[in-house]
Amino acid sequence: MGFLDKMRGMAAAKQGADAAEHASSASSAAGSATDPVCHMKVDPAKAAGKSEHAGEAYYFCSPGCKQKFDADPHKFLGAHSH
Ligand SMILES: [Zn+2]
Repeated sequence: MGFLDKMRGMAAAKQGADAAEHASSASSAAGSATDPVCHMKVDPAKAAGKSEHAGEAYYFCSPGCKQKFDADPHKFLGAHSH
């Protein structure tokens, strides 16, 4: 009986460690950016493209979004220039 209790304790401890690992990897994605073209959340580490405009860095979900932004950044930055 004592042996089984020990095994269960080890299994529970392992599960706890796995859960903590998942929690920390999820919170590390908190530093996300928003694609200004399609407003998708983009992880800067996995972004398909990056542009800088007026000293700000912008990240894109796809090369197509970056191209649209580069062609006319003001269109996507909420500037009412018309
Ligand atoms: Zn996009």
